[in-house]
Amino acid sequence: MQVLKERILKDGKALDEHILKVDSFLNHQIDVTLMNEIGEAFKERFKEHKITKILTIESSGIAIACIAAQYFKVPVVFAKKTVSRNLDAQTYDSVVYSFTKQQHYTVKVSKRYLHNEDHVLIIDDFLANGKAAEGLLEIVEKAGATLEGVGIVIEKGFQEGGKKLRERNVKVESLAIIDKLGKDCIEFRDE
Ligand code: 5GP
Repeated sequence: MQVLKERILKDGKALDEHILKVDSFLNHQIDVTLMNEIGEAFKERFKEHKITKILTIESSGIAIACIAAQYFKVPVVFAKKTVSRNLDAQTYDSVVYSFTKQQHYTVKVSKRYLHNEDHVLIIDDFLANGKAAEGLLEIVEKAGATLEGVGIVIEKGFQEGGKKLRERNVKVESLAIIDKLGKDCIEFRDE
């Protein structure tokens, strides 16, 4: 997605060879106009699929999923990371290792909001080692729902997440794939 790649080059900052900071338009301040184009792009890439629900993980995935959901006209469910008395007792759970926080945490989705007749599109901001996506996949499996695919805004192609998911025959659509990251260097995969 050309407009996204240009924005990453303009405003993205490689903190080191592994982490890209994009908090001026995606992770902290949000450019809603760009988010709309991202939502439209996901719809285009999954237009042949019957999607009944979008599943994401709090917190950065929520805004992206909600804007995309307006193009699919389906509800968004986000997996919760925080323990809360507000959450239903009956949940599908999965343990995820956080790439950025470097710790394990449990994500939970209420059994009321994911069912075996659902066709699910998973959406997230980044794909690195694939732990967040795998955790969401496990929740989809536990619900007996059908996974239609995974939509990612920025995939870091030099990490193994995308490869692992595609080897499992999951349709992964990433709007920008970065193959190299470093000081003053962001290289995209040719598509
Ligand atoms: P994974 O589970 O695929 O290893 O990592 C994906 C999750 O970690 C995403 O939900 C995202 O929040 C975070 N993440 C991974 N790599 C980056 C990065 O380079 N920049 C930012 N801002 N977040 C990242």
